[in-house]
Amino acid sequence: MTDAHCHIARGEKRHFLCEPLDSGVGEGDVAFAGLHPWKFLAPNMVEADDVCGTAQKAIEGLRERLKASSRLGVGEIGLDRLKERTISAAMRSAFIRQLELAAEFGRPAVLHGAKCWGEVVAACRTRKGRIPAFLFHGFSRSGGLIPDIIDLNGFISIGPALLNDHAVNYRELAKTIPAGRILVESDATAENAQTVAKVDEIAGKLAEIRGVPFEELEKTLEENATRFTESLI
Ligand SMILES: [Zn+2]
Repeated sequence: MTDAHCHIARGEKRHFLCEPLDSGVGEGDVAFAGLHPWKFLAPNMVEADDVCGTAQKAIEGLRERLKASSRLGVGEIGLDRLKERTISAAMRSAFIRQLELAAEFGRPAVLHGAKCWGEVVAACRTRKGRIPAFLFHGFSRSGGLIPDIIDLNGFISIGPALLNDHAVNYRELAKTIPAGRILVESDATAENAQTVAKVDEIAGKLAEIRGVPFEELEKTLEENATRFTESLI
């Protein structure tokens, strides 16, 4: 079973890890590096110039790391309207520059797009074919964008919200994603490692909701995880 999006490794077989990593990358795990959009929220931006200068350096650092390792993906990158209603110029520019790096090096990208998935998909669409695959992490929009996501060779990872009996719309979404496009994620961090659900619990619920045997779903999830990262050697 693969945890398609997490920030720390926990027991399961395979992890797709986005920074900040709290633990090492094990055999079979895949690492992604990038500047998370929350780095550009106002409370973190003591002085805008400083953040831009730091971001600039970090993005240059990312380019060097991509050059040095053919097994590194790009993520988690994106836009966010959940925490602040306006997307800052710094957040937008960091996202676009990192997407360009993913395109330049031909690496898969892990995307964050809370409350602005339409914009994130539009930015990816203009780079169609140059980025081998996308992971839409924490995706909760209803089905309208799914054809675009498929067209981009995108995968949608289902997270712990699936275990919430009140998340009716999310469960409906989890039912409608085509089998070849679905993954599961814990989004575990050092802070929530003890409390957040593990991917086998999420996969169990997903199998129940989609009405397929667990073993069959598990096989599908593994095939999808392999396809998402197949450009990394
Ligand atoms: Zn995350």
